[in-house]
Amino acid sequence: MADTEVEAPEETGQAYRMLIGDEWREAADGRTFVALDPYSGEGWATVPEAGREDVDAAVEAARDAFREGPWKNMTGFDRAHLMRRFADVIERDAEELAQIETRGNGKLLRETRAQAGQLPRWLRYFAGIADKLEGETIPADRPDLFVYTRHQPLGVVAIITPWNSPMALLMWKLAPALAAGCTVVVKPSPFTPVSTIALAERAAEAGFPPGVFNVITAEAAEVGAALVGHPDVAKVSFTGSTAVGAKVGAAAGANITPVALELGGKSAQLVFADADLGAVRSGLIAGIFAATGQTCVAGSRLLVHESVRDAVLDSLVERTRTIALGDPRDAATEMGPMANEPQLERVMGMIDRARDEGATVAVGGGQPSLGGCFLEPTILTEVGAGMEIFEEEVFGPVLAVGTFSDEDEAVRMANSSRYGLAAGVWTENIRRGLRVAGELDAGTVWVNGYRMVAPYAPFGGFKDSGIGRESGWRSALEFTQTKTVWVEIGEPSDRDPFTIG
Ligand code: NAD
Repeated sequence: MADTEVEAPEETGQAYRMLIGDEWREAADGRTFVALDPYSGEGWATVPEAGREDVDAAVEAARDAFREGPWKNMTGFDRAHLMRRFADVIERDAEELAQIETRGNGKLLRETRAQAGQLPRWLRYFAGIADKLEGETIPADRPDLFVYTRHQPLGVVAIITPWNSPMALLMWKLAPALAAGCTVVVKPSPFTPVSTIALAERAAEAGFPPGVFNVITAEAAEVGAALVGHPDVAKVSFTGSTAVGAKVGAAAGANITPVALELGGKSAQLVFADADLGAVRSGLIAGIFAATGQTCVAGSRLLVHESVRDAVLDSLVERTRTIALGDPRDAATEMGPMANEPQLERVMGMIDRARDEGATVAVGGGQPSLGGCFLEPTILTEVGAGMEIFEEEVFGPVLAVGTFSDEDEAVRMANSSRYGLAAGVWTENIRRGLRVAGELDAGTVWVNGYRMVAPYAPFGGFKDSGIGRESGWRSALEFTQTKTVWVEIGEPSDRDPFTIG
């Protein structure tokens, strides 16, 4: 990371800079903050604490690159070429990027390796779109009119990301934005700023012109708010909690800025009596304990048919007891720590309140002897509508279990949530699988599987889980606006100026 490194006191680990235009900068007022390694609890990176001045500088750099720089005159073919080079550089450095991600959020190295390995797929998929954003020729109702459309890039995109999968969630936005010809200012979560800086460095190496990809880092929420509210931002693309998303949406709305929101979830896993219970068990574990439950699509509500409830629960509890907690870099570890102390405290508070409301702890419920940010994988029964643990996003390894007696009740219970990000349906009956998939209020439904995402498949939320879709080729269009061009091709004529058409 040669260009981004600066001297820093030893106890706060390596120091990093932000990328604004072609400069690796410290904050204008020199302030910094320290990012912690959630496994060791130690400070490992010192990062600039940007202020409003830095936000303005980053947006200005992005605006200038959009309006005046070489990027403006690049064709989709040129952009695709750069995106493929960026993909190659990421592929070369995937292991280093995975190590940085794990250091930042404590996710298992085997998962961050898979995520870093997948980043080039998004770039290559959208590179294939960059040169195919075709407008249309519209048949007109007069022979002397030629009408066509162009998809023009929106301009500066403000990208704000959370800490759970900073690189992957950034790439879901960045790849289509670059394909469309936009420039970006990214503000990662203060818990995990370094992997975004590392990606910016690689974008620069790949040859993106200065100002196309800018990064600002800050702990203060006001900095994200200043970016969202900046008048030169043409689109806001946000991933994070529903509470902050609502503020971001309101601020963008005040400026008439289009906004995409990828927010929280309380996804249901529906297990019918005819399901393959072996597959169900690994699907449920993947849904709630992979990534320590800190995924937006966490299958945090298990709705199981009453006739198989005990069989499913017993097998789930048995496997949950054997989940290996430990160092996320160790190949034998199955669950790492929570990503940060505030999140750990928030989740433990929710478990305590669930107990107070009458929930039964089937397994887990506390901190293991490892201490630190670790939390036991937890399953709670005797929960239901109206209880916080059944209604609200936990964003941790906590599964709430309810039962249903027929398909209608299962769908009703699943849809009773204010969220609608994802759902799982487990049944060997294909008719039922497709029928229920159609009925569920969720942006993604997996039938007999869970937690699959790909650059070609749209992703996003119903209801309070968000606005807009990421991935899928059409998502590139969300970074463009359509211009309609009318051309008179008949001989010049002296038309009546006081009528329309
Ligand atoms: P968060 O909402 O607290 O923060 C998200 C980002 O917003 C951070 O970068 C934060 O610094 C910034 N921010 C905070 N206040 C802001 C403001 N007023 N204006 C602009 N930016 C502001 O979320 P988090 O705790 O980092 O992440 C966890 C949440 O993210 C969960 O709710 C999870 O479900 C959600 N998430 C959603 C998806 C999805 O694709 N739907 C994916 C991953 C995570």
